[in-house]
Amino acid sequence: MRIRPGTTLHQPSRRLILAGGSALLVGAMSALGGRAVLAASAIHKTKIGEAEVTVISDGTFTLPQSLLLPGVDQAALDTLLKAHGATADFTVQTNVCVVRLGSTVALIDTGAGPDFMPTLGRFADRLGEAGIASDSITHVIFTHAHADHFWGVLDPFGDTSLWPKAKHVMALAERDFWFAPDAADKVPEFQKSMSVGIVRRLKALGDVITTAKPGDEIAPGLAFVATPGHTPGHVSVAIRSGTSECLVLGDALTHAAISFGAPSWRWGSDIDGEQAAATRARVLEDAARRKLAVIGYHLPWPGLGRVETSGSAYRFVQEAGK
Ligand SMILES: [Zn+2]
Repeated sequence: MRIRPGTTLHQPSRRLILAGGSALLVGAMSALGGRAVLAASAIHKTKIGEAEVTVISDGTFTLPQSLLLPGVDQAALDTLLKAHGATADFTVQTNVCVVRLGSTVALIDTGAGPDFMPTLGRFADRLGEAGIASDSITHVIFTHAHADHFWGVLDPFGDTSLWPKAKHVMALAERDFWFAPDAADKVPEFQKSMSVGIVRRLKALGDVITTAKPGDEIAPGLAFVATPGHTPGHVSVAIRSGTSECLVLGDALTHAAISFGAPSWRWGSDIDGEQAAATRARVLEDAARRKLAVIGYHLPWPGLGRVETSGSAYRFVQEAGK
């Protein structure tokens, strides 16, 4: 696996290091290619055509393998990880994208805010540190409503958006799923309390959340792409500028070794495992064939790379961006 370290454009402030404590330092370590890579920065800038994309870390978190890969064959997992030079470390990044294109300044997901995990919730502070004024945000776009992507939208002192002037957009199928009376029955056991929190926040935001469908252009050069399965209404976001294109994956591909090397394996965090696996197969085939740039929310910092075929599956080729 080729690795080029991200461009250091911005060092975390002393305040953030203190606030994040060891979480920031430990959290900046990502298991990639068998080596622990220290993220030099929590803010990474790249260009996709004319679009300026700033990836901002909301922090990191760790989930146990038993929740993420229930029933996985341990020997097969060990073999796969070894083949990718990776370790069984399920500490993941949370790579929030800010896209500036023309008159649009769009957030793609918002991080978790302060109420989900103590190692998350750094995004809103770091947005300012990246030199992006809060009142310049025109769109807040969600790939899905899970806590680590959606809860950071709320002002921690109330139930209003931190970006009240922006247009907030979520897939119609996603919003409808969570509002259905049986939503909590359909999610994995360990996500049941989170599902209650999702519904509470969606209700608090009310009409602030507008909806769109896969294929819809949210703003010039930004469109929803259907990638269901992780959640029923999960979408990725295509950034298109001239001949350049990047797919912001959300949670369509979450692990640099497993999602790429064994896309058919079932994840315990996917609501519809079969559909999520079919989505992975489709996204990987398409991204590899078109040599598409991708940005994964949980892929090794800053989550930017490409997909290459590798034997009968694929591998993630991390890029610092261009
Ligand atoms: Zn996620």
